[in-house]
Amino acid sequence: MKDKIILTGDRPTGRLHIGHYVGSLKGRVELQNAMDYQDMFVFIADAQALTDNFDNPEKVRQNIIEVALDYLSVGLDPSKITIFIQSMIPELTELAFYYMNLVTVARLQRNPTVKTEIAMRGFSNEDQQAVFGSGLPVGFFTYPISQAADITAFKATTVPAGEDQKPMIEQTVEIVRKFNSIYGETLVEPEILLPANNACHRLPGIDGKAKMSKSLGNCIYLSESADTLAKKVMSMYTDPQHISINDPGHLEGNTVFTYLDAFCRQEHFGMFLPEYPNLDELKAHYQRGGLGDVKIKKFLGKILEQELAPIRERRKEFEKDIPEVYNMLRKGSEKAREVAAKTMDDVRKSMKINYFEDKQLIAEQAEKYRQQQ
Ligand code: ATP
Ligand code: MG
Repeated sequence: MKDKIILTGDRPTGRLHIGHYVGSLKGRVELQNAMDYQDMFVFIADAQALTDNFDNPEKVRQNIIEVALDYLSVGLDPSKITIFIQSMIPELTELAFYYMNLVTVARLQRNPTVKTEIAMRGFSNEDQQAVFGSGLPVGFFTYPISQAADITAFKATTVPAGEDQKPMIEQTVEIVRKFNSIYGETLVEPEILLPANNACHRLPGIDGKAKMSKSLGNCIYLSESADTLAKKVMSMYTDPQHISINDPGHLEGNTVFTYLDAFCRQEHFGMFLPEYPNLDELKAHYQRGGLGDVKIKKFLGKILEQELAPIRERRKEFEKDIPEVYNMLRKGSEKAREVAAKTMDDVRKSMKINYFEDKQLIAEQAEKYRQQQ
């Protein structure tokens, strides 16, 4: 039985990068094409992006189309799935408001992703001082609650995402359990679907920092030109102790090898580096010494170029008809709204705030006042 409901989203804070690709997008396309689901939703999280970009609506607005084009260029197909814009579904904000009653401030403060994101944006990055200098906006602090609303509004069972999303899904599950225990069985518990390959859970940035992230400016974008792609690969962080070719090299924290773990397939050796039989041998040589960074970077560059070239080409095609992309988003948003509205009806009923549909309430009140007359 096809009972899976799949949902994921991305913030329109920039074009999508290869971290998104291996962490989530690639898996989404595979899921989409396997057709083993009841419904699949992919959305552009503009309302969430505004929680830490509220003073820059233009940035969010401009990036809606960028993310949509990236979706289409990796092969997400609006004839099979629903692609929509978060803020076009007011039910999502409505749901989040009620979920706020079910979460304590202390619980939100313990959310590890919120902790890192606050540190990353608010207090360690001087550029952001103007935004967060006077304190943390409530909207940003509570975004895990809004994310719970996004997931549960569609009764999603499966959320394909990177590792940074684990605490979000855990928090959503807690909200679902609390809601169902207080108001009765209404919401569905989601599960995160991490990529099978460990190296894809949290792809580091080209600077070797923990996570490739639009906000950290350490990305290789999916739409990168061949030229920039090659330059970025050449500038990648490797092993600072590997100074001359003959020095033994380290793999730990070596971004080039992490990317090879994420992207390299056996056939790439035959195509681009026939003198090595496989990745293990390449790694062993690097560790022994005698293998230079330029050689492995060139190899990685060819692999990435082969993966990204068709994406870049497809993007160019979709860029030819921008109004049609907006049209697709409008249609998707209409469909998504219908689904979310049904969940909101269930929620209103469970929470007993469906006054006008509650015939029994009206009858009881009428009876009470009749007796008093
Ligand atoms: P921002 O810096 O604005 O938060 P981001 O680059 O972190 O942007 P998101 O829109 O927050 O991107 O993430 C969208 C999805 O991509 C999530 O499912 C997230 O887990 C996944 N993802 C983002 N970055 C990576 C990464 N470096 N490795 C693996 N998955 C990632
Ligand atoms: Mg993020």
